[in-house]
Amino acid sequence: MDKSDSAPLPPRKKSGVLPTLLRQMNVRRVLDALRRLGTVSRADLTRVTGISAPTMSKLVEELLASGLIEAEPEMRYATGRPSVLYRLGSRSVQILGAVIGMRECTVVASGLAGELDERRCRTFATPDNYESFLRALAAELTTLACGFEAPALGVGLSLPGLIKSSTGEMALSPNIHYLDGRRPGVDLAKLLKLTVVPVQEEHGLCLAEQMFGAARGVEHFAMLDISDGLGMGVISGGRLISGSDGFGGEIGHMTAKLGGELCGCGNRGCLETVATDLAFMRALTRREGRTLTMDEIIAEAQAGRLAIAPEIGEVLDYLAAGIGTIVNVFNPAMLFVYGRLFEVRDGLFDQLVRKVGEHALRPSLQRCRIVRAQGNKRLGAVAAIINSHFNTLGPAFSI
Ligand SMILES: [Zn+2]
Repeated sequence: MDKSDSAPLPPRKKSGVLPTLLRQMNVRRVLDALRRLGTVSRADLTRVTGISAPTMSKLVEELLASGLIEAEPEMRYATGRPSVLYRLGSRSVQILGAVIGMRECTVVASGLAGELDERRCRTFATPDNYESFLRALAAELTTLACGFEAPALGVGLSLPGLIKSSTGEMALSPNIHYLDGRRPGVDLAKLLKLTVVPVQEEHGLCLAEQMFGAARGVEHFAMLDISDGLGMGVISGGRLISGSDGFGGEIGHMTAKLGGELCGCGNRGCLETVATDLAFMRALTRREGRTLTMDEIIAEAQAGRLAIAPEIGEVLDYLAAGIGTIVNVFNPAMLFVYGRLFEVRDGLFDQLVRKVGEHALRPSLQRCRIVRAQGNKRLGAVAAIINSHFNTLGPAFSI
């Protein structure tokens, strides 16, 4: 027999690491359970998480004290016994989000369950240089946070363009070039003295759809954002495809039209220049000889004062070809499209889905449900900071 087999086990040292890790994982279980189930009793929390009743009692007390969860009394007359229900903190803590767009920026506040309230939302025109941008963003977020007494846990910052995952540096923002080479998350954190989590806007949309929308429990899906530029996030096997620097999934800069219009990235004829809300607005603006916003286009087209053909047909054709490529390359079970183009006239989205059949492989398309995204970029920003906060506690827990 090998000597080591018969050697007595060394006495176990008492370690504080293991209980701390276990406690964090239990906290994560409770928070994930509340995120999925909403408002539940302590008994139900014990049942779905598998945590023992005494440990749960202690955890709930700690979480209540930290503000991460809240209690609301519920009278249960049927059983004759009042019980207390718990939910994620909505008044005891606040989560801040900021969405940076080409024309305007929006800051929002919510609770840990990602509930957005129009009254806790501020919008301002996107400044034209980096220093003004940072100052305005910090001022608007501070004003927003001060309007509510609860402590802020951090800020999710939704940014358009390529963000280096290792450093948070904006490698390229095709439509807001003063962000190139900057680290807006780091700079904003210094000004606010708060945790700031930068997220590429499409990755934020993926998180929002995964945490609060129709992608809950979906392991393979793609999120296509056609609102300004054309960006994409792909979740495969439950994880975001990031590539070596975090730039993975940038299908918007695939060449769609050789020698086409100059793109913000410096190349010509990118899919982004022909298959987006912005491409549609620009095409109508050129034809009409006046600047048209998407709101104006929707209102005038619906009132019958503005013809949208043939421009809409061309945008849908390019978009369908792009979606066909995504379906073929990534084989998603769901593909979400985020954009306003389809509000112009009823039936446009169905028309797009039919056209995709001309470009996608039939077996892949049969497996893929193409739908409009339920979330939005504000929810994406909020989802980024909530997700980051939860992830510091341990791996996600599935019910
Ligand atoms: Zn491009």
